[in-house]
Amino acid sequence: MARRVWRATITMSRFFSSDYRSLTPYTPGEQPQIRNLIKLNTNESPFPPSEKAVRAAAEAADSLHLYSDPTAKKLHEAIAKKLGVDVDEVLATNGSDEILNFAFMAFCDAAHPAAFADLTYGFYPVFAQLNGIPYTEIPLSEDFTIRVEDYIGINKTIFIANPNAPTGIFLARKEIERIVASNPDNVVLVDEAYVDFGAESCVPLIRKYDNLLVTQTFSKSRSMAGARLGFGVGSRDLIRDLNTIKYSTNPYNVNAMTMAAGIGALADEAYTKENCRQIIENREWTKRTLDSLGFVCTDSMTNFLFVKHPQIGGEAIYRALRERGILVRHFALPRIKDYNRITVSTREHMRILTEALSEIIGGNVS
Ligand code: PMP
Repeated sequence: MARRVWRATITMSRFFSSDYRSLTPYTPGEQPQIRNLIKLNTNESPFPPSEKAVRAAAEAADSLHLYSDPTAKKLHEAIAKKLGVDVDEVLATNGSDEILNFAFMAFCDAAHPAAFADLTYGFYPVFAQLNGIPYTEIPLSEDFTIRVEDYIGINKTIFIANPNAPTGIFLARKEIERIVASNPDNVVLVDEAYVDFGAESCVPLIRKYDNLLVTQTFSKSRSMAGARLGFGVGSRDLIRDLNTIKYSTNPYNVNAMTMAAGIGALADEAYTKENCRQIIENREWTKRTLDSLGFVCTDSMTNFLFVKHPQIGGEAIYRALRERGILVRHFALPRIKDYNRITVSTREHMRILTEALSEIIGGNVS
């Protein structure tokens, strides 16, 4: 089957700006329209969005002839209330990808180059390149953990996915705090896309450090990947700077249906909590089962597992799963080519996955 993934660098018109000719765009996970495929490749939730979110979005559809509220007042109030911060310490965006881009634009330049791990969210180097920002990739240690010492006092704008992707590994808040405290003249952005699956948020630190920006998303724990809703939390001054970028690019960045859905989802925290509980339970079950089959999994605090087999290559496993109708994510990067990133889904899906992996390696699920 042809892979329909955007690869702008292969061809370009003669009109394409020289600023972007060498840009390698981000490669999103496949979204194939194949029926009965078990899709474990983009860390979506297997559960539908909250009924409250769906109902609120449907009601908002009646007003689609009007622009959405550029101040996102009600949504910001709902997020602020949930996190225990002030409304002007929050900015909602079109997915958290958008606030990441805003942060590269707002807080990086030649004097404040970017720094992030060599194995982390693949959009960071793309945003740096897009905005002409110099960047350094800091190698993770052999076991894929962050070496905190490498980030102490480096005088760069630091981006840390915590828990990290695609490794799933989490760094304790007190360690992040050491990094933030040691770089007072640079912003440290903590990308908490996966924080709701058992990790510890850095939001409680935003009043203590005016250089800390925390981002989160509704895409994972709140089952709203298709709605595109993320947000950042930080000092009023950081949020004001990000608003300058927002109002200079797209003041209506969050559409009216998504805004309403976000408020609906926040009014249904019991649903979100229960879904997260099930994902965590399924993650631990899957990890135990894979361990017993001889697979090696990192210690994931997310809704995915990062998995390798000591004898079988990552791409071979990816292909064998695909032949069985199960789609996972394989990265060709040399350091992680033996691994696959597998989204944690329902118990039924996880049972099918582990049985398929057992068959692939010629063993049995115990
Ligand atoms: N950060 C990380 C670490 C991610 O894995 C993702 C999801 N691809 C995002 C941010 C962006 O998520 P979204 O734009 O859907 O909020």
